[in-house]
Amino acid sequence: MLSGELDLEDNPTPITLSQRPKSEGHAYNRFSPKRTTSFMGSSPFGKAESYQKLEQLGEGSYATVFKGLSSLTHQTVALKEIQLKEEEGAPFTAIREASLLKGLKHANIVTLHDIIHTKETLTFVFEYVSSDLSQYLEKHTGGLNPFNVKLFLFQLLRGLAYIHRFRILHRDLKPQNLLISDIGELKLADFGLARAKSVPSRTYSHEVVTLWYRPPDVLLGSTNYSTSLDMWGVGCIFTEMISGLATFPGMKDDQLDMIFRVLGTPTEDTWEGVTRYPNYDLKQFGLYPPQNLMTVIPKISFIPLAAHLASQLLQMNPHRRLSAQKAMKHEYFSDLPHLVHELPDAASIFTVNGLKLLPEMDELLNEMPKKPSGRSGIRTTLRV
Ligand code: AMP
Repeated sequence: MLSGELDLEDNPTPITLSQRPKSEGHAYNRFSPKRTTSFMGSSPFGKAESYQKLEQLGEGSYATVFKGLSSLTHQTVALKEIQLKEEEGAPFTAIREASLLKGLKHANIVTLHDIIHTKETLTFVFEYVSSDLSQYLEKHTGGLNPFNVKLFLFQLLRGLAYIHRFRILHRDLKPQNLLISDIGELKLADFGLARAKSVPSRTYSHEVVTLWYRPPDVLLGSTNYSTSLDMWGVGCIFTEMISGLATFPGMKDDQLDMIFRVLGTPTEDTWEGVTRYPNYDLKQFGLYPPQNLMTVIPKISFIPLAAHLASQLLQMNPHRRLSAQKAMKHEYFSDLPHLVHELPDAASIFTVNGLKLLPEMDELLNEMPKKPSGRSGIRTTLRV
C-alpha cells in the first residue's frame, strides 16, 4: 500500500516497486484502522513499542521529527511523526514520501527503516543523521573549506543522479533537506514533495520549490517540470557553500529580480521562448546585463573550475542546465580519486581510501596553540 509504481519507460535499470494505488485520493482509505505496517507479519518491525521517542529534532514540511531509540537494533533513529486526522487519513505527501523512499537504496539518500501506523499517527523510522547542511553552514560561517564543498556537492549530485535515473524529482532541495553525518556523508531527505515522473513534459502544480532555490523558469510560471528543476537548486547550494551566504535570498515578489540582477534579464536573444512564459513581462522587470559570477561571489574565483561548473548549473534556460550525471563528470571534480565514480549505489564515497572531510577554518583556528598571555608572549618578539 505504501509502495509506488515508477514508470520506467526509458529507464534501463528498473528497480522493483510494487503497485501504486490507482488513485492517490483513495490511498488513505486503504489503511487499516488498526496498527499496520508495510513490514507485516509477526515481525517486531512496525510496532510503536519497538521505539523510544526522545527529544524533538525539527519540524518538516508536514511532520515533526524526533530522535528515537530502537529496541530492535539498539540504534539511534529519527522518528518522523505525522498526526492523522480521523476524517482525512494520511496526507498525500506522507504516502508519496514513503512509497518513493521504500524503493530507493543509495548511500546519499536517507534510509527508511520502518513504518508505524497507529490510529493517531503515521511514523516513519529513518536512519539518524546528526546534522544537516543548514546547521553545518550556521556552525561554520563565512564559507566552507573548498575541498569539503567538493565532497558535499559530489554526494548531492550522486544522490540526484540516482533518483533522476528513475525520473524522480526531489522538488524541494534546500540545505535543511540535506542531512550531514559526523563523517561528512550527505543524504537527501524530505521527499514529501517528490513524486515519480515518467514524462518530462507532464504538468504539476507550480508552488513546489522553496523560494530561494526555485528556478527562473518555474518562477516565470512553467509547470513543465523535468530534472532540471533540481539542478538549479544544486547551483544555488553549491555557491552558498562557497560564500556562506544564500545566493538568491529573495522575497515573494523580488525573487526573479534578484536572479536577473546577477544573470541578466533574459530576452528572446538570450533564451529562446522565454517571452512565452505566463509571468514574463518585460515592462515589470528591471533591465540588467549579466554579471560575471566571480564578481558577485569573489570566493569562487579562488577555486579552480568552480565558477565554470556553477555557471553551467545556474543556467536560466532549463534546457541548457547541466544534468547531475554530467555535472559529476565536470573537470572541477578531477582531483577526486577516480574510484568515486565506480562505487556501488549503496557505498559511501568515504569508503574510498584516504577520502575524508577536512577541518573547517574555525576548527583549524581552535586547534592552533593559544598565544601565551602576559610577558611570556616573547615568541612574537624579534631578536636582533
Ligand atoms: P524533514 O521533514 O525531513 O525536512 O525534517 C525536518 C528536520 O528534522 C530536518 O531539517 C532535520 O533537522 C531533522 N531530521 C529529518 N530527518 C532526520 C534524520 N534522518 N536524522 C536526523 N535529523 C533529521
